[in-house]
Amino acid sequence: MPRDHLKGAKDYYDVIVVGSGLAGLTAANMLARFGISVLLLEHHYQLGGMATWFKRKGGHIFDISLHGFPIGMIKSCRRYWTKEIADNIHQLKGIRFDNPQFNFWTTFDRQDFTDKLVNHFGVLRGTVEAFFDRLRKMNYYDKVEITTRDLFKEYFPGRTDVWRLLMEPIAYANGSTLDDPAITYGIVFSNFMSKGVYIYQGGTDDMVGKMKADLIQNGCDVRIMSLVEKVLVENGRVGGVVVNGRTIRSRAVISNAGLMNTIFKLAGEDNFPASYIEDAKKVRLNNSSCQVYMGLKKREKIDYMGDLFFTSTAQEFDSDALCAKKITSRTYSFYYPDTRPGSDRYAIVSSTNANYEDWASLSDEEYEKDKKHLIDDTLDALEGYLPDIRKKIDWIEAGTPRTFQHYTRHMGGATFGTKFEGLPVSMSLPDHVSGFYHAGSVGIIMSGWLGTINYGVIVANKVASWMSGQGEQS
Ligand SMILES: Cc1cc2nc3c(=O)[nH]c(=O)nc-3n(C[C@H](O)[C@H](O)[C@H](O)COP(=O)(O)OP(=O)(O)OC[C@H]3O[C@@H](n4cnc5c(N)ncnc54)[C@H](O)[C@@H]3O)c2cc1C
Repeated sequence: MPRDHLKGAKDYYDVIVVGSGLAGLTAANMLARFGISVLLLEHHYQLGGMATWFKRKGGHIFDISLHGFPIGMIKSCRRYWTKEIADNIHQLKGIRFDNPQFNFWTTFDRQDFTDKLVNHFGVLRGTVEAFFDRLRKMNYYDKVEITTRDLFKEYFPGRTDVWRLLMEPIAYANGSTLDDPAITYGIVFSNFMSKGVYIYQGGTDDMVGKMKADLIQNGCDVRIMSLVEKVLVENGRVGGVVVNGRTIRSRAVISNAGLMNTIFKLAGEDNFPASYIEDAKKVRLNNSSCQVYMGLKKREKIDYMGDLFFTSTAQEFDSDALCAKKITSRTYSFYYPDTRPGSDRYAIVSSTNANYEDWASLSDEEYEKDKKHLIDDTLDALEGYLPDIRKKIDWIEAGTPRTFQHYTRHMGGATFGTKFEGLPVSMSLPDHVSGFYHAGSVGIIMSGWLGTINYGVIVANKVASWMSGQGEQS
């Protein structure tokens, strides 16, 4: 008989959280800390969503999205998780670029970027300072209408080399393009520019393990292998969920299951007014990703190659080329033994933005062939920097948009949430179905580990305040 992953679960909770990405985990933890009864349901066998890892024989362990985040993660982890988690966050100092327009190392902070822009690119210091100040002041509520391209044209006209330096890492981090609203760029760039790029030392498995322990200590009921098939909506109110065929009722539901899945699959469009559905249909999904995971043999080493290495053979920054199946740009993350203190292993992960459609329509045979091509092509490219890499690795495999779709269930295998216009749609969900909330990397402001944790907190606070208001009324 299959194992009952909901064995012992109650028939009613104050709040059910669907999905254990960092937003779902954080929202669940906050509410549990407030003393609210919470059930967290995750369809996968592991918590974390895209903040995940996998192990392979031979002692290999690969992180999927542990490449770098802004310093703000320290504060958020300390406040909303534990000091121990926050204390494991360390700066990555070796960020590198190699492309036809420039080749250098940077610490990826305001001071070093100013230095590069002035001394390497010859931009006037005053222009650089004015650009940084402008970005710093941007906020979502100002409704800045200009695009990132307009912004770059204003400060660095014709300087596609500068545009590339400023844009390429951010496009990797959130899938935004030159034609998206400038705020999609400004907020993420400013977050990184404050103090550089940080990483969790210990690996994603350690971090998510500590989060799980904290959740359980705070009284949250955590269930894996629990697929929510439906969110129950009754007379304009949320009533609970159907999970693994069982109905569990609740006063509120927070869905971390991706905005489009939340509205169109879990609830169903009939439960919303036409104007809301119209807005929701306008939300563009972001691109997906391909990755190649390479594990070095035991006792094999590589010299320090930097931590994050942005490479490209494209002549200039080009959003379409960045996602194209014929790959021109790759970001390598180098994981040295100190990524997981106590380990002596090295791993390299190559990441590339990708279009779901390029992979979704392939037959199984074509898919396997194209995955093999992705692997071979990546090794060829990496050999340009590490000529003996083929001899040193004993594990290599690839993930594609289909892999991301399979594990997260996000439509289109979207790896960086939905585009910017998803934010108001997410925020107004409870206006249409009382007690129904969405938390996840929506729109640019909430993308990445930091953004999604912070959005989880915002939503948890909204739910708690809505529940206390309801309590007073009843
Ligand atoms: C290749 C890659 C590299 C990245 N690199 C970085 C990086 O370096 N730095 C950074 O800050 N961010 C990075 N990110 C982005 C970051 O990982 C995400 O923004 C963040 O983890 C998303 O969290 P989330 O809570 O929004 O959703 P998700 O992580 O997508 O979680 C959603 C969860 O809901 C679950 N779920 C969905 N439907 C159901 C259902 N019906 N029932 C039950 N469970 C369900 C899914 O299984 C999943 O666990 C990267 C992402 C990828 C893919």
